[in-house]
Amino acid sequence: MKTTKWKEAIILTLRGYKFWYKIDKNIIIYKILYAICGIVSPYTTVYISALLITGIAEGKELKKLFSYALAIVGINLIMSFLNRMCLRKINASQNFMWEKKEIFFNSVNMSMQYEHLENPETYLKRDRIFEAQNANGFGTWMLLWHIEQFIRGIFSVIISISLSISLFILKAPGTYSGIWTLINSPLSVIVVIAMIILNIYINILTVTRQSNFLYKEIEELQNDNRIYKYYNEMLENYNAAAEIRIFDEKSLIEKSWLNIYVHPKYMTNIIKYYRKTGRLRVLTTFFMNITLYLFIGAKAYMGAFGIGNFVLYISTIERFISAISDLFQTVSMLSSNIPYLRDEFSYLDMPNNMYQGTLKVEKRAFCEEGDNDYEIEFRDVSFRYPNTETYALRHINLKFKIGEKMAVVGENGSGKTTFIKLLCRLYDPTEGVILLNGIDIKKYDYDEYMSIFSVVFQDFKLFSFSLGQNVAANTNYDESRVIECLTKSGFSDRLAKMPKGIETCLYKNFDEEGVEISGGEAQKIALARALYKNAPFIILDEPTAALDPISEYEIYSNFNRIVGNKTAIYISHRLSSCRFCNDIAVFSNGSLIQRGSHDMLIQDENGKYHELWNAQAQYYTV
Ligand code: ADP
Repeated sequence: MKTTKWKEAIILTLRGYKFWYKIDKNIIIYKILYAICGIVSPYTTVYISALLITGIAEGKELKKLFSYALAIVGINLIMSFLNRMCLRKINASQNFMWEKKEIFFNSVNMSMQYEHLENPETYLKRDRIFEAQNANGFGTWMLLWHIEQFIRGIFSVIISISLSISLFILKAPGTYSGIWTLINSPLSVIVVIAMIILNIYINILTVTRQSNFLYKEIEELQNDNRIYKYYNEMLENYNAAAEIRIFDEKSLIEKSWLNIYVHPKYMTNIIKYYRKTGRLRVLTTFFMNITLYLFIGAKAYMGAFGIGNFVLYISTIERFISAISDLFQTVSMLSSNIPYLRDEFSYLDMPNNMYQGTLKVEKRAFCEEGDNDYEIEFRDVSFRYPNTETYALRHINLKFKIGEKMAVVGENGSGKTTFIKLLCRLYDPTEGVILLNGIDIKKYDYDEYMSIFSVVFQDFKLFSFSLGQNVAANTNYDESRVIECLTKSGFSDRLAKMPKGIETCLYKNFDEEGVEISGGEAQKIALARALYKNAPFIILDEPTAALDPISEYEIYSNFNRIVGNKTAIYISHRLSSCRFCNDIAVFSNGSLIQRGSHDMLIQDENGKYHELWNAQAQYYTV
């Protein structure tokens, strides 16, 4: 790894710990404390034991020796008490860490700029994060699992070095000849230190290579997991089940699965590679150990230190060797974790480029004596979706007042939904400006602005919650208003058959007594949800596309009656559904090309409306 990469690794790792600290500071504090307790005990035991042995050898008084023994027992008792306390605290926090992290990630997802959510790259990234997490606990989890080892490794190395430093300084008394002179000379110290440095270098080298290799192999594992997930999701889906049977797709699926699925070689590859690169590490560690033991043995033999220090050095060096190897293993895991941390933080850091205004939206439409004087204006608005070349909307100029009903019609792909997405600020225009009462909508507080719209999208979603919660979009709701909205949307007959009324859960995901609902019933619930929000603007964006034109017309005109004097925008590619509207805007290829009532537009025989009307009229009686 180059130095810049180490720098990035340190920054990302520290940020990861900060992330956990923010989620639950107890777990980080107690894990660090637990790690420190875990090393204080063995090192103090070794150190005081060495003093005890020296004391015995030097014939020190019994009282002194007894105090050493008492210190060992006392420190061990305190440490084991602290250890148990930390473990209790860690376990208590750890049980909720998964949920806390999920809640954090989901909350980021739910407030992310809409543009990112429509970008498939965002989903791939999120999938990659979860796959890495499930495959081997990579990402921020890895930091949490390895914090104790990491802290213990660092402290052990530092304490070992400080306890054994005198080994290199102490000289044997008297004069020696031959090989013994060498042991007493600075050269032997240089050789021993060089062996330690060589060992560290080989460790760093192999660890870096191993982590790069591991990342490559895990990528393959993730790819397999993705394929598994796709096939499992597809086979769980009712619609797919019907299609598989009707089109006899079983063999297509089995063959395509076999074609793309890479057989799991990664585990064997990883083990083989680790064994290969590990050999060099084992070899240098072996020579380092021999050199160290010879050095300590020879110095003790020559009388550089007594039996107490001999025991101290041997135990400390043993601990140093195992600590350094553990530390490298931890560093290896942490460095192979860096690409996953990068993924995770780049997901959390997705920028929100939408201008967040501060102006309050006057709730004029809500108050009885309000003047209803809202006006929306599109002023020369053009829009291109991110990363696309073609404009989905071009030079749209349009005004409408609150309390009015407007229909937006046009063929599929003409830009109707895009028009709504811009109106609701899911995207900002590429060019031009949208004004509410003469003020750029970007200047309004985003949440405030969103609160004035209620939209039923074509692919609306209901959740596996109770019917009441679905309608109110909240856990607390006004029961009578929920029932009123469901009645208005035509759901009352079905509601009467619901086992627990509005408390009935939709779908069976979380409740065995949950009910399955048909597409038409779901639409009525979605319409009731739009009514419950009681927003001044209501928009229906073809939620009825699956219905036949006559039923769609009935729903649209009924809805028009229900919404009363609210502003409503109806979107459809079926012209017949919107003919009740006095104000019809015709979109074609991203442009607004005609506007007027049905009677007015139909008279222009060369116009798009006339052309579409006649083309569609053959499918139903008007
Ligand atoms: P309509 O609602 O009239 O069917 P849309 O507004 O959905 O049309 O689409 C207008 C154009 O924008 C189409 O060419 C469509 O392919 C394109 N489009 C819609 N959504 C996206 C998107 N998320 N990314 C890129 N292009 C899109």
